[in-house]
Amino acid sequence: MKSEFPLLAAQPGLHYLDSAATAQIHRGALDAVLRHETGSRANVMRGTYALAEAADQAYESARTSAARFLNAAADEIVFTSGATAALNLVAHAFGAGLQAGDRVLVSQAEHHSNFVPWLMLRERQGIALDILPLRPDGQLDLDRLPELLHDQTRLVALTHCSNVTGAVTDVAAVVDAARRVGAKVLLDGAQAVQHGPQDVRVMGIDFYAFSGHKCFAPGGVGVLWARRELLRDLPPFHGGGGMVGEVGPGGFSWAEAPRRFEAGTPPIAQAVGLAAALDWMMGLDWPRLRMREAELCARLLDGLHDIRGLRVLGSMRADRRAPIVSFEMAGLHPHDICQVLDARGLALRGGHHCAQPLLAALGVEACTRASLALYNDAADVAALLDGLRHAAKVLR
Ligand code: PMP
Repeated sequence: MKSEFPLLAAQPGLHYLDSAATAQIHRGALDAVLRHETGSRANVMRGTYALAEAADQAYESARTSAARFLNAAADEIVFTSGATAALNLVAHAFGAGLQAGDRVLVSQAEHHSNFVPWLMLRERQGIALDILPLRPDGQLDLDRLPELLHDQTRLVALTHCSNVTGAVTDVAAVVDAARRVGAKVLLDGAQAVQHGPQDVRVMGIDFYAFSGHKCFAPGGVGVLWARRELLRDLPPFHGGGGMVGEVGPGGFSWAEAPRRFEAGTPPIAQAVGLAAALDWMMGLDWPRLRMREAELCARLLDGLHDIRGLRVLGSMRADRRAPIVSFEMAGLHPHDICQVLDARGLALRGGHHCAQPLLAALGVEACTRASLALYNDAADVAALLDGLRHAAKVLR
């Protein structure tokens, strides 16, 4: 599998264990970008010449691939610059309809990208924010949902999968509880998409956001999916070319969704690359790959368990988490650990992982994170465990 990823193929000594931050790009995605840039590069929407039509076609076909990946319709897909932009779009466009007295529920497990936009909405519009706590095992405490959901709750905005503990949210339970009070449900899918295609219809949610660079595609592109009937009535967030009908000194009319939300020149080549990555992913045997990821994760958790003074954040069970494992080592700073590991060709991240509320809830200031993707293997895990034993020796 590593041979399909140009960077990993070029650097055989590298143990890349930071895919939760950015996954390596698949060769097919890179090839598709090159093909587009050298064969159909032009701006979209406004051209009538053949090349511009080819660009249009490539861009709209990328929308169709993103829709298939989520089991959605193409006109429900908005291309953004990433998950953060998609989440801010919802906070502005959906948030514009909220007022003092309305409530949004988020959790302690959120990445700052699905936390700060709601804090900002609270500052802008005086909404109330309810915060679902974590259980000690890192799972969302869904038992607390009934008391935290109110008749005024308009939106439940939760992570699909934590970027720190790997805990996967029980979406059915969330949707069931949210529907009882008539709230919409948004999932931040940034960490889930790397582990296979998603089905927004089966999940029964209303909004889904993710980034291309976390699913083997180029950076600079992401997706917001929203139910067609919701998207149809939402106001635009950014103003500019492409998102309007008529414009004059007196005002402007909105273009139809999804273009209403794509002001300016969109990330065309990046969307084409994203589509190639998603098409490739849709052809993979995910039940087998997920089992393989879980086996590797279990191997990692077992090995970490045996390292003295090391505490894993969240569940020790590989079947209840994506293969994202964060830990602290008594007396050692994550940055020092990462530096020692780097010298051995191990790429890991240490810090607060843009999830300060989660770290505070688990009582840590910073942690080291190893995240596995479909190209990792047993040698990567063994090298990490060796490296950590070495770090414990040289740093203590
Ligand atoms: N949500 C989660 C759970 C994430 O892990 C990340 C990326 N670390 C984001 C949102 C934001 O993604 P991006 O930086 O690509 O916009």
